[in-house]
Amino acid sequence: MPDFLPTLTGSFSIPAGENPTVAMMEAAYRHHGIHARYINMEVVPENLADAVRGAKAQGYVGFNCSLPHKVTVIPMLDGLGESSKIIGAVNCAVKRGDQWIGENTDGKGFLLSLQEVVDPKGKHIVVFGAGGASRAICVELALAGASKLTVVNRSPQRGAELSELLKRETSADVELVDWKGDYSVPASTDVVVNATSIGLAPDMEARLALDVNSLQSHMVVADVIPNPPQTRLLRDAAARGCRTLDGLGMLVNQGATNMEYWTGVAPDKSVMRKVLEDIFGA
Ligand code: NDP
Repeated sequence: MPDFLPTLTGSFSIPAGENPTVAMMEAAYRHHGIHARYINMEVVPENLADAVRGAKAQGYVGFNCSLPHKVTVIPMLDGLGESSKIIGAVNCAVKRGDQWIGENTDGKGFLLSLQEVVDPKGKHIVVFGAGGASRAICVELALAGASKLTVVNRSPQRGAELSELLKRETSADVELVDWKGDYSVPASTDVVVNATSIGLAPDMEARLALDVNSLQSHMVVADVIPNPPQTRLLRDAAARGCRTLDGLGMLVNQGATNMEYWTGVAPDKSVMRKVLEDIFGA
């Protein structure tokens, strides 16, 4: 007798129709012969509590929370993982025993993607942006032993909030730069990260205020933007001889981490990446 009851996972976000994660996750489940589904659900903020109660009642083993639910979901869970506690945001809820634990796999996904080319331990990393993605990335980089983090942000207040958090919660040396005019990356930099939304489709030619001549070939340049995967920043960096990392790496690695949390199976990431490449025409 076949098993007619799949393991349930999914996502709450708005707008959900633009979120490609379902295609990547279900391809991984199929590839590994896992009888599981990933249901993409559009949930407005006033319905989040009901949606979470529903997931718990229906036997879900976990779910993603994307914008705008990453902070408001926290009181609906029983506890937080180490980095999500520091970051103050959850993108992945996991049922462990009878407890619902909130994890943040955005930063972990970035870290795993970066570790495929360089170990951040002891490195000087310049991060543009101080929003949710930057916060998750900076915390994971600091926990992974990055020696210095330079946060470059347009709004001084958001920049200060992030740099204070990093100083308080991690041992990294933290520098905050008020982003005015074209920023020149210091020669001591090992890794440069765009964690702003600059370059996201449809505004694909939007330019980071950065002196591209300050990029040197020993630097790794990473972008969080998944669409388009080859951003203007990455094209400029490649032309300067830098190794580059696109935002699909972060997306694939966070999805793979979610799947491992939910099913115990570490998926073949190439299958997941291929799905995204087909979607974004990479
Ligand atoms: P937030 O809105 O929280 O933060 C956006 C950041 O970008 C802020 O630091 C903001 O600066 C900065 N910014 C936006 N426009 C400009 C501009 N014109 N000039 C200077 N700075 C600017 O967004 P998130 O952090 O949640 O997301 C950022 C990006 O990360 C998104 O594009 C998203 O697609 C991507 N992302 C990718 C993931 C992946 O897996 N690849 C996962 C999660 C996010 P200020 O503080 O001054 O407003």
